[in-house]
Amino acid sequence: MKRQVDLLDISDGKLYESNDMVRADCFGCEGCSKCCTGMGESIVLDPFDVFNLTAGTGKTFEQLLESEIEMNVVDGITLPNICMKSGKCGFLKGGRCEAHQFRPGICRMFPLGRYYNEEGFKYFLQVHECPVNNKGKIKVKKWIGYPDINGYEAYIRCWHEFMIDLQDNLADLSEDNVRVLNLLVVKTFYQTPYGDEFFEKFYDRMKKIKEMLGL
Ligand code: SF4
Ligand code: SF4
Repeated sequence: MKRQVDLLDISDGKLYESNDMVRADCFGCEGCSKCCTGMGESIVLDPFDVFNLTAGTGKTFEQLLESEIEMNVVDGITLPNICMKSGKCGFLKGGRCEAHQFRPGICRMFPLGRYYNEEGFKYFLQVHECPVNNKGKIKVKKWIGYPDINGYEAYIRCWHEFMIDLQDNLADLSEDNVRVLNLLVVKTFYQTPYGDEFFEKFYDRMKKIKEMLGL
Protein backbone atom coordinates (compact mmCIF):
# COMPACT_ATOMS: atom_id res chain seq x y z
CA MET A 1 0.00 0.00 0.00
CA LYS A 2 1.23 3.51 -0.69
CA ARG A 3 1.81 5.48 2.48
CA GLN A 4 3.38 8.91 2.97
CA VAL A 5 5.11 8.58 6.35
CA ASP A 6 8.50 9.90 7.35
CA LEU A 7 10.30 6.79 8.55
CA LEU A 8 12.57 8.78 10.83
CA ASP A 9 9.56 9.98 12.85
CA ILE A 10 8.34 6.48 13.66
CA SER A 11 11.43 4.26 13.68
CA ASP A 12 14.96 3.97 15.02
CA GLY A 13 16.18 5.12 11.61
CA LYS A 14 17.37 1.65 10.55
CA LEU A 15 16.12 -0.83 8.00
CA TYR A 16 16.38 -4.54 8.72
CA GLU A 17 16.45 -7.77 6.74
CA SER A 18 15.27 -11.16 7.90
CA ASN A 19 18.72 -12.25 9.13
CA ASP A 20 19.36 -9.06 11.10
CA MET A 21 19.06 -8.75 14.85
CA VAL A 22 16.50 -6.20 16.05
CA ARG A 23 15.24 -5.01 19.45
CA ALA A 24 11.68 -6.24 18.91
CA ASP A 25 11.34 -9.03 21.46
CA CYS A 26 8.57 -8.10 23.95
CA PHE A 27 9.16 -11.24 26.05
CA GLY A 28 5.69 -12.74 25.56
CA CYS A 29 4.00 -9.33 25.95
CA GLU A 30 3.49 -9.93 29.72
CA GLY A 31 -0.19 -9.05 29.96
CA CYS A 32 -0.07 -6.26 27.39
CA SER A 33 -2.51 -6.36 24.48
CA LYS A 34 -2.13 -2.79 23.22
CA CYS A 35 -1.65 -3.76 19.58
CA CYS A 36 -4.82 -5.91 19.72
CA THR A 37 -7.09 -3.02 20.72
CA GLY A 38 -8.11 0.20 19.01
CA MET A 39 -6.17 -0.52 15.84
CA GLY A 40 -9.06 0.55 13.58
CA GLU A 41 -8.85 -0.96 10.11
CA SER A 42 -5.05 -1.12 10.08
CA ILE A 43 -4.51 -4.89 10.37
CA VAL A 44 -5.12 -5.57 6.70
CA LEU A 45 -5.13 -9.24 5.75
CA ASP A 46 -3.39 -10.73 2.75
CA PRO A 47 -4.56 -14.04 1.24
CA PHE A 48 -2.04 -16.12 3.26
CA ASP A 49 -3.39 -14.53 6.47
CA VAL A 50 -6.92 -15.56 5.57
CA PHE A 51 -5.74 -19.04 4.56
CA ASN A 52 -4.12 -19.40 8.01
CA LEU A 53 -7.14 -17.98 9.85
CA THR A 54 -9.58 -20.29 8.06
CA ALA A 55 -7.31 -23.31 8.65
CA GLY A 56 -6.71 -22.38 12.29
CA THR A 57 -10.32 -21.62 13.23
CA GLY A 58 -12.03 -24.13 10.95
CA LYS A 59 -14.25 -21.27 9.76
CA THR A 60 -14.85 -20.22 6.18
CA PHE A 61 -13.97 -16.73 4.96
CA GLU A 62 -17.70 -15.87 5.11
CA GLN A 63 -17.98 -17.15 8.70
CA LEU A 64 -14.97 -15.05 9.76
CA LEU A 65 -16.71 -12.04 8.21
CA GLU A 66 -19.58 -12.52 10.68
CA SER A 67 -17.41 -11.34 13.59
CA GLU A 68 -13.59 -11.53 13.46
CA ILE A 69 -12.87 -9.79 10.16
CA GLU A 70 -14.50 -7.13 7.99
CA MET A 71 -14.09 -5.62 4.53
CA ASN A 72 -12.86 -2.09 3.88
CA VAL A 73 -11.44 -0.10 1.00
CA VAL A 74 -7.68 0.49 1.06
CA ASP A 75 -6.34 2.77 -1.67
CA GLY A 76 -9.33 1.87 -3.86
CA ILE A 77 -9.08 -1.89 -3.31
CA THR A 78 -11.56 -3.80 -1.16
CA LEU A 79 -9.61 -5.94 1.31
CA PRO A 80 -10.34 -7.74 4.59
CA ASN A 81 -8.92 -6.56 7.90
CA ILE A 82 -9.13 -7.65 11.52
CA CYS A 83 -12.38 -6.22 12.94
CA MET A 84 -11.97 -3.86 15.90
CA LYS A 85 -15.55 -2.58 15.94
CA SER A 86 -16.00 -3.50 19.61
CA GLY A 87 -12.70 -1.74 20.38
CA LYS A 88 -10.66 -4.92 20.36
CA CYS A 89 -9.83 -7.84 18.13
CA GLY A 90 -12.32 -10.73 18.35
CA PHE A 91 -9.43 -13.16 18.86
CA LEU A 92 -8.35 -11.40 22.05
CA LYS A 93 -9.69 -13.46 24.96
CA GLY A 94 -8.61 -12.89 28.56
CA GLY A 95 -5.81 -10.62 27.39
CA ARG A 96 -4.29 -13.32 25.17
CA CYS A 97 -4.45 -13.95 21.44
CA GLU A 98 -6.54 -17.04 20.77
CA ALA A 99 -5.21 -17.06 17.22
CA HIS A 100 -1.56 -16.87 18.22
CA GLN A 101 -0.47 -19.92 16.17
CA PHE A 102 -2.22 -18.65 13.05
CA ARG A 103 -2.23 -14.87 13.61
CA PRO A 104 -1.87 -12.52 10.64
CA GLY A 105 1.47 -11.32 9.30
CA ILE A 106 1.04 -7.77 10.65
CA CYS A 107 0.50 -9.18 14.17
CA ARG A 108 3.52 -11.47 13.81
CA MET A 109 5.78 -8.59 12.86
CA PHE A 110 4.62 -6.05 15.42
CA PRO A 111 6.38 -3.82 16.53
CA LEU A 112 8.15 -4.27 13.20
CA GLY A 113 6.60 -2.94 10.04
CA ARG A 114 7.43 -3.26 6.34
CA TYR A 115 9.03 -0.48 4.33
CA TYR A 116 8.55 -1.04 0.61
CA ASN A 117 10.99 0.27 -1.97
CA GLU A 118 11.96 -0.42 -5.59
CA GLU A 119 13.69 -3.70 -4.73
CA GLY A 120 10.93 -5.08 -2.52
CA PHE A 121 10.78 -4.34 1.17
CA LYS A 122 12.74 -4.20 4.39
CA TYR A 123 11.60 -4.11 7.99
CA PHE A 124 11.63 -1.14 10.33
CA LEU A 125 11.14 -0.95 14.09
CA GLN A 126 8.17 1.16 15.20
CA VAL A 127 9.43 2.98 18.27
CA HIS A 128 6.23 4.66 19.50
CA GLU A 129 3.76 1.78 19.33
CA CYS A 130 4.81 -0.88 21.83
CA PRO A 131 5.12 0.15 25.50
CA VAL A 132 7.66 -2.52 26.55
CA ASN A 133 10.95 -0.91 27.53
CA ASN A 134 14.29 -2.65 27.02
CA LYS A 135 13.04 -5.08 24.42
CA GLY A 136 15.27 -8.04 23.72
CA LYS A 137 17.35 -8.52 20.60
CA ILE A 138 16.05 -11.17 18.27
CA LYS A 139 16.61 -12.20 14.66
CA VAL A 140 13.86 -10.76 12.45
CA LYS A 141 13.01 -14.14 10.92
CA LYS A 142 12.75 -15.76 14.35
CA TRP A 143 10.42 -12.98 15.51
CA ILE A 144 8.15 -13.46 12.49
CA GLY A 145 8.27 -17.18 13.02
CA TYR A 146 7.49 -18.64 9.59
CA PRO A 147 9.80 -21.59 8.83
CA ASP A 148 10.28 -20.63 5.15
CA ILE A 149 10.96 -16.91 5.53
CA ASN A 150 12.40 -16.58 2.00
CA GLY A 151 9.30 -18.13 0.44
CA TYR A 152 7.07 -15.96 2.62
CA GLU A 153 8.93 -12.77 1.71
CA ALA A 154 8.80 -13.65 -2.02
CA TYR A 155 5.04 -14.09 -1.66
CA ILE A 156 4.69 -10.73 0.17
CA ARG A 157 6.62 -9.00 -2.62
CA CYS A 158 4.43 -10.64 -5.26
CA TRP A 159 1.20 -9.64 -3.48
CA HIS A 160 2.41 -6.07 -2.90
CA GLU A 161 3.40 -5.66 -6.56
CA PHE A 162 -0.04 -6.92 -7.57
CA MET A 163 -1.72 -4.41 -5.23
CA ILE A 164 0.32 -1.55 -6.71
CA ASP A 165 -0.49 -2.67 -10.28
CA LEU A 166 -4.18 -2.86 -9.37
CA GLN A 167 -4.16 0.62 -7.80
CA ASP A 168 -2.54 2.05 -10.91
CA ASN A 169 -5.15 0.42 -13.15
CA LEU A 170 -8.18 1.29 -11.02
CA ALA A 171 -7.69 4.98 -11.77
CA ASP A 172 -8.81 4.46 -15.40
CA LEU A 173 -11.90 2.36 -14.61
CA SER A 174 -15.54 3.31 -14.14
CA GLU A 175 -17.13 2.84 -10.70
CA ASP A 176 -18.95 -0.27 -11.94
CA ASN A 177 -15.76 -1.82 -13.28
CA VAL A 178 -13.88 -1.03 -10.05
CA ARG A 179 -16.60 -2.91 -8.19
CA VAL A 180 -16.39 -5.89 -10.56
CA LEU A 181 -12.60 -5.98 -10.30
CA ASN A 182 -12.72 -5.86 -6.50
CA LEU A 183 -15.24 -8.71 -6.43
CA LEU A 184 -12.96 -10.73 -8.72
CA VAL A 185 -9.92 -10.17 -6.49
CA VAL A 186 -11.81 -11.09 -3.31
CA LYS A 187 -13.32 -14.21 -4.88
CA THR A 188 -10.04 -15.35 -6.45
CA PHE A 189 -7.68 -14.78 -3.53
CA TYR A 190 -9.80 -14.81 -0.38
CA GLN A 191 -13.12 -16.57 -0.89
CA THR A 192 -12.07 -19.59 -2.91
CA PRO A 193 -10.52 -22.17 -0.54
CA TYR A 194 -6.90 -23.26 -1.07
CA GLY A 195 -7.14 -26.72 0.45
CA ASP A 196 -4.02 -27.81 2.32
CA GLU A 197 -1.40 -26.11 0.16
CA PHE A 198 -1.46 -22.35 -0.25
CA PHE A 199 1.50 -21.14 -2.28
CA GLU A 200 1.21 -23.26 -5.42
CA LYS A 201 -2.46 -22.34 -5.83
CA PHE A 202 -1.79 -18.70 -5.00
CA TYR A 203 0.83 -18.35 -7.75
CA ASP A 204 -1.37 -20.24 -10.20
CA ARG A 205 -4.27 -17.87 -9.49
CA MET A 206 -1.95 -14.86 -9.70
CA LYS A 207 -0.71 -15.95 -13.14
CA LYS A 208 -4.28 -16.39 -14.41
CA ILE A 209 -5.63 -13.12 -13.03
CA LYS A 210 -2.66 -11.15 -14.39
CA GLU A 211 -3.23 -12.69 -17.83
CA MET A 212 -6.93 -11.88 -17.58
CA LEU A 213 -6.26 -8.26 -16.57
CA GLY A 214 -3.30 -7.75 -18.90
CA LEU A 215 -0.96 -6.87 -16.01
S1 SF4 B 1 2.14 -3.58 22.14
FE1 SF4 B 1 4.06 -4.77 22.32
S2 SF4 B 1 3.97 -5.77 24.31
FE2 SF4 B 1 1.91 -5.02 23.85
S3 SF4 B 1 0.90 -6.81 22.91
FE3 SF4 B 1 1.75 -5.58 21.25
S4 SF4 B 1 3.79 -6.45 20.83
FE4 SF4 B 1 3.12 -7.20 22.85
S1 SF4 C 1 -5.06 -11.71 15.81
FE1 SF4 C 1 -4.17 -11.93 17.85
S2 SF4 C 1 -2.31 -10.69 17.76
FE2 SF4 C 1 -3.58 -10.05 16.05
S3 SF4 C 1 -4.80 -8.32 16.81
FE3 SF4 C 1 -6.00 -10.17 17.14
S4 SF4 C 1 -5.55 -10.82 19.23
FE4 SF4 C 1 -3.95 -9.39 18.59
